[in-house]
Amino acid sequence: MKITKIRLTMLPQGSEPVCAYCTVSFDDQLAVHDLRIIRNESRLFVAMPNRKRTRPCQKCQTSNAVLSRFCSHCGVALPRTPQDPSGSSRPHVDIAHPLTAEFRSEIEREILECYQKTIHSDQGQHAAN
Ligand SMILES: [Zn+2]
Repeated sequence: MKITKIRLTMLPQGSEPVCAYCTVSFDDQLAVHDLRIIRNESRLFVAMPNRKRTRPCQKCQTSNAVLSRFCSHCGVALPRTPQDPSGSSRPHVDIAHPLTAEFRSEIEREILECYQKTIHSDQGQHAAN
């Protein structure tokens, strides 16, 4: 499976740790949105799209983040986070992710190359203005 297109949405300075959002197309057949380029100290890495896990309040049925202790709508105390069948109480779950370390590195390398090129071409445009 090959990456055939990378589209970056650069974020302004100051929005770090997220530097850019990214849509990646594979084999001109499948697009995956909402990858993020994240700066952690001086290191850049690519985070796969994920979503917050939620659970409903027993009283008002409002969805709350899985690690919340109180309902954001009615304020009732939520029971301790139950373990899901996979034994995880992580606050986020991946929506799409590579299945091998090799493919993960390939995706990350290509996206970060594209990011570096975009940064340098932006700087070129600013210098020309
Ligand atoms: Zn509630």
